[in-house]
Amino acid sequence: MSVRVDHGVTSGTFTLDGETFDVDNNVWVVGDDTECIVIDSPHSVDGILAVVADRKVKAIVCTHAHDDHVRVAPALRAETAAPILLHPDDRPLWELTHGGPGDANAALWDADLTDGQTLTIGGTTLHVLHTPGHAPGAVCLYAPDLGCVFTGDTLFRGGPGATGRSYSDRATLEASIRAKLFALPADTIVHTGHGEDTTIGAEKALLG
Ligand SMILES: [Zn+2]
Repeated sequence: MSVRVDHGVTSGTFTLDGETFDVDNNVWVVGDDTECIVIDSPHSVDGILAVVADRKVKAIVCTHAHDDHVRVAPALRAETAAPILLHPDDRPLWELTHGGPGDANAALWDADLTDGQTLTIGGTTLHVLHTPGHAPGAVCLYAPDLGCVFTGDTLFRGGPGATGRSYSDRATLEASIRAKLFALPADTIVHTGHGEDTTIGAEKALLG
């Protein structure tokens, strides 16, 4: 199989509830030599396009709409003509960054992600898992052929994502992780939104 996962890191800020933090975000690109899907669009279009290289971007998939994951999504769309895909439950977070109906300069996403939906790229399939908790419209993308899952900020190496800010809920997050992620094979590699990889088995052992 010629499908592969490429990775980059971009740096910038995350702002919510009136506080701003410096953050490094992972950019994950899944595809073959000719086409790819970009998972999240943090901070820098050039940084993302360096990972894409000369391939055609077929979709820009948002794991959730915190500003560090979607800030340059419209700019990346303008460069690539790829549609932006987002779970609609993250509308309030998206609108904090990109505006909404009634805002003259609002940028919208193009198509809704739904639980159970599949996205095909380079002959492999990504399964959309709606995993609310860190954000109401958070999704993970499971690639069984590649033995990996892209979790955004839902699950990190060392535990679940943060739930201390608006639109987050710890109990909802843990329920999502147990129902959707811990159902995956234990050796599934977890590619996270920030920091190092882990595995489903390692995190299952930690969370209990
Ligand atoms: Zn987040």
